[in-house]
Amino acid sequence: MTNVHRVLIVGGGIAGMSLAIALSRKGIASEIIEADPDWRIYGAGITITGPTLRAFETLGLLDRIEAEGFCYDITRICDADGRVIIPSRVAGRPLGARIPNSGGIMRPVLHKILSEATRACGAQVRLGVTVVAIGQNGQGVSATLTDGSEAAADLVVGADGIHSCVRVMLFPDAPVPVLTGQGCWRAVVPRPPEIEGAQVYVGGPVKAGIVPVSQDEMYLFLLQHVPDNPRMPEERFPELLAALLIGFGGALGAIRDGLSPASRINYRPLEKLLLPPPWHHGRAILIGDAAHATTPHLASGAGLAVEDALVLADLLASDRPLKDALAAFTARRYERCRMVVENSVRLGELEMRLAPGEEQAELQRASMLALNAAI
Ligand SMILES: Cc1cc2nc3c(=O)[nH]c(=O)nc-3n(C[C@H](O)[C@H](O)[C@H](O)COP(=O)(O)OP(=O)(O)OC[C@H]3O[C@@H](n4cnc5c(N)ncnc54)[C@H](O)[C@@H]3O)c2cc1C
Repeated sequence: MTNVHRVLIVGGGIAGMSLAIALSRKGIASEIIEADPDWRIYGAGITITGPTLRAFETLGLLDRIEAEGFCYDITRICDADGRVIIPSRVAGRPLGARIPNSGGIMRPVLHKILSEATRACGAQVRLGVTVVAIGQNGQGVSATLTDGSEAAADLVVGADGIHSCVRVMLFPDAPVPVLTGQGCWRAVVPRPPEIEGAQVYVGGPVKAGIVPVSQDEMYLFLLQHVPDNPRMPEERFPELLAALLIGFGGALGAIRDGLSPASRINYRPLEKLLLPPPWHHGRAILIGDAAHATTPHLASGAGLAVEDALVLADLLASDRPLKDALAAFTARRYERCRMVVENSVRLGELEMRLAPGEEQAELQRASMLALNAAI
């Protein structure tokens, strides 16, 4: 038996909340320590692929995501003018009739769904604190928190994102996040009724696309080559994004012409990180972006985080000794996460050197096909 009855989760993002919910379904108690006193999430859209929707279904949250986000089966590939060149990337529903091929949702809406489920499952949540030290012995683990208190548990899970402080405590020599040379623009705009699925625009000067996130709204994404990582002044976001959209027609052209300070524009330089195995040290382990942070090219970082939570909860509820369960976690997750991080970064490299659309599409297709495999 793993003999894990109480888990301390550092970080209340998608990975941490999913883990608390998955553990409660196995009868294991947990407490989340979240650094942000207001537990906020920024107002961008997020794409949830079929495999991510499958993971949310296992977590019991697909119904709410379908109701409050927007799920669809068709992703159209368009040229820069907005003419459809590939009407649908996938035939039927490869993951079964219950699982839509893809979807979109606003991050704050997903956060609300996950945080309500976290509280409803009985997990404790402490906001505005973090961990300053982790002490371990054969029997358990104790974390010293910034408010001076000690939190005791059978296992500590670092789910504190790409700039994880738990990773630094466990693995001081671990690689640090690296900029990839691209920046990601996103904006939230009204959804015209004819946009019933995603559209990806290829063959233009940059990669861009749109994804519905609700009955009323959709989000635009655009990936810019920014080798020098310039500062993007927020007051100029509408003008800078509109300039990048010059030359696009179709729905993207219409969005460009309507961009304004009300368009909820967000910009992020992209970073990547892949921690070599193992992802545990004694009674502490890393999940989500803390262990494997990807760029958004396969829209799968959040999905990997939810899958990590499901797999770790399964292993902790198994009859293996704890150290075997933790080793089995990295063994089950490493290859899939490596594929996503490395292929996402490779897709970005292909975009930056304007590689032929077919080469990009083939890598995208092969990666998504691999992700359909059961976890
Ligand atoms: C521009 C961009 C677009 C993306 N688009 C998509 C997409 O379309 N689809 C997709 O699946 N993925 C996407 N991703 C990836 C996805 O956002 C991440 O993979 C996912 O959020 C990882 O979840 P996480 O819980 O591991 O980390 P995070 O979401 O970073 O959550 C970490 C949590 O820990 C908290 N925290 C941080 N430090 C501490 C600390 N020291 N103590 C306590 N708490 C702490 C933070 O406040 C936060 O709540 C995108 C990423 C980027 C950068």
